[in-house]
Amino acid sequence: MSNTISNINTTNQICNVQAKSKEKEIQHNIENTQIEQNKSQVYYGKDLVQTQNNTKIDNDLAALFQDLKGKDGKDFAETAYKGLVKYFGLDDVAPKSLSWEQSEGRPIVSDYRWYENKVVLYEDYFNKAPKEKQIGYIAHELTHLKQTTNILKTEGLPLGNYAVAIAVSDFKAMMTRNPQMQNAYKTASLNGKGKEFSTYMIQKGAAQTYKELNTVFADVLKQAKHPLNSPEGQKAVNDVKAQAMYNGADLNEYNNCPLEKEAMDIENSIRLAYRQTQNK
Ligand SMILES: [Zn+2]
Repeated sequence: MSNTISNINTTNQICNVQAKSKEKEIQHNIENTQIEQNKSQVYYGKDLVQTQNNTKIDNDLAALFQDLKGKDGKDFAETAYKGLVKYFGLDDVAPKSLSWEQSEGRPIVSDYRWYENKVVLYEDYFNKAPKEKQIGYIAHELTHLKQTTNILKTEGLPLGNYAVAIAVSDFKAMMTRNPQMQNAYKTASLNGKGKEFSTYMIQKGAAQTYKELNTVFADVLKQAKHPLNSPEGQKAVNDVKAQAMYNGADLNEYNNCPLEKEAMDIENSIRLAYRQTQNK
């Protein structure tokens, strides 16, 4: 659920899906071809950019972009973050500020870590990116935060289902890229216990995830909930399914995962909107 880049100057964006540990990370090449497309963000309640020959940028967004004028570095990023948190309606759930880290050799630019509820920017890469991309990265990660908290605020959607979905996708990623896990599975399979092994690993992961969700999002879980049959609730159901189908270690699945598609669409829309204001 993260943005990564191996070479900030190439036209290819290398995205990295980070699960809970470094060993679960994976790099992906994602062509930046969607930037000119302008998909409406139905769920977010606003079209970021309304086309029909004349483009109009949402007023709140325009105010944020105005605010960003003359700002640089962390000042730019933190201002963009606070503005986008407000714009996405995440004031009550988003961390107060960004977390800054070093990539330490990993090709990673940004990340949303649900298990800490942190929006992390890897400053060595992030600082080299143009502002238009920087604001896009922040929007991308906030989209994942929005997806997560929308699921947690859905009445009648058991937290356990979400925990299992995360555990299943984590397990798939581990099986794709963790040789130790692959060997353990192979050994179990030779003994006719392949299925038991998978079930055990997923249950173990789900139990841990369930505990973490309850701890990290204790306040969010207490907040007013929307019903399962509301648009937000239906989106949450679909997002949990998407989470279970997701294998972050598989390029095809990354590109086709609705959670990532939405995050990339929003990233691109914000970039486009920001770029338009810079040209004025
Ligand atoms: Zn992502």
